[in-house]
Amino acid sequence: MNSLPTDPCQGGLISLDDALRQILETISPLEATEQLMLRQALGRILAQQVSATFDLPPFTNSAMDGYALSLTGLQPGCSLEVIGRSMAGQPFNGRIKQGQCVRIFTGAPLPEGADAVLMQEDALLEGNRMIPQRIPSQGENIRAAGGDVRQGDIVLGRGKRLNAADLALLASLGHSWIQVYQQPTVGFFSSGDELRPLGEPLTPGTIYESNRYSLHGLLADLPVVGTDLGHVPDRLEIIRQRLEQGGQNYDVILSSGGASVGEADLLGEALRQVGDMHLWRVAIKPGKPLLFGRIGKAWFFGLPGNPVSVHVTYSQIVRPALWKLAGAPSFRPLRIQARCGHDLQKIPGRLEFQRGQMIQNPDGELTVFSLSGQGSHQLRNLSQANCYIILPADSTGAKTGETVLVEPFTCQLPSHD
Ligand code: AMP
Ligand code: MG
Repeated sequence: MNSLPTDPCQGGLISLDDALRQILETISPLEATEQLMLRQALGRILAQQVSATFDLPPFTNSAMDGYALSLTGLQPGCSLEVIGRSMAGQPFNGRIKQGQCVRIFTGAPLPEGADAVLMQEDALLEGNRMIPQRIPSQGENIRAAGGDVRQGDIVLGRGKRLNAADLALLASLGHSWIQVYQQPTVGFFSSGDELRPLGEPLTPGTIYESNRYSLHGLLADLPVVGTDLGHVPDRLEIIRQRLEQGGQNYDVILSSGGASVGEADLLGEALRQVGDMHLWRVAIKPGKPLLFGRIGKAWFFGLPGNPVSVHVTYSQIVRPALWKLAGAPSFRPLRIQARCGHDLQKIPGRLEFQRGQMIQNPDGELTVFSLSGQGSHQLRNLSQANCYIILPADSTGAKTGETVLVEPFTCQLPSHD
């Protein structure tokens, strides 16, 4: 375990599925845990199984404002004596007998002897007597103790990412502290002589670098701690140093640029000198070259330099690997079917991730459009996109109205009306 796969693509192209499978088989979760206060655990991965030490609701209570009563002997037209009140937090302590009822409010404990709650809209009050306007059924408007969770039930499993509902569930079971996995640390840097940091003027042939801003934003969605390690020029010695430092200080190192086999593509060479590496040529478009390796204690992913390729290789390869390291091994992006709003072109060969815009009509039907300009440098289209349209390697495109596979970036879509 944890040794790199030997020659993963035999010098040729490797499919995304194979690349991902081999990477996920190679890495294992970090497993270090920490105890956090409940609020701080939002978005973190649960490192313990949680079982209920008591029932939820803990006691049988009313689901409505109304009257708790006994159905025994209850006849249409009869009236019941109101013998007290049961409020949320202030129970009625007596017992209801035949011919009696108790004024009750939502969440208040059901008095002994009651087997239904008549909602107040169905009750007529005359002095201290209540005349039911209809006869409720057995158990009506009653929330049974344990009707949500039974004592001993496992309510949350190890590896679950804690969301708002999970925090609420844990709070209702009395957990003020919770054991979660420590977040993997991810150091990232960019490489390339042409790149300039923000704030400096551009000189001929230079561009502002953007990939570190992409990675900053992409990592923010995951339970990891991202650290920007800056930029390196195309100089082997400097790249080597950055990698070696990273290998001592981070669980994962990400780089962008310099990852293919051009003259200035030095990441592979540097990695070979300081660690263990493979150049992968993953059969996806955009984003073919990818380096995967190990330096010191860190896993290394060398992403391509083209800004859109960074997003695609990150989302398809790095992200599942980070989820596994973080302790949530079963991550799978949501992929759904949508109808093409127009004809899609594709050259057969590689699995393609086109940047698309998906809209939803009022009936919930989804239609997707491929944005014009699918170059791997075209950031404006990536910014306008809300999904990838995933076209299989052998596909030649799709016709208007045909369904295609789509991976949404978020669950919120513009509506179409
Ligand atoms: P490379 O993979 O280094 O050959 O870079 C491929 C393309 O991506 C080139 O056009 C680079 O200028 C561009 N590029 C590389 N790194 C960045 C970056 N950090 N920000 C913006 N563009 C980049
Ligand atoms: Mg470069």
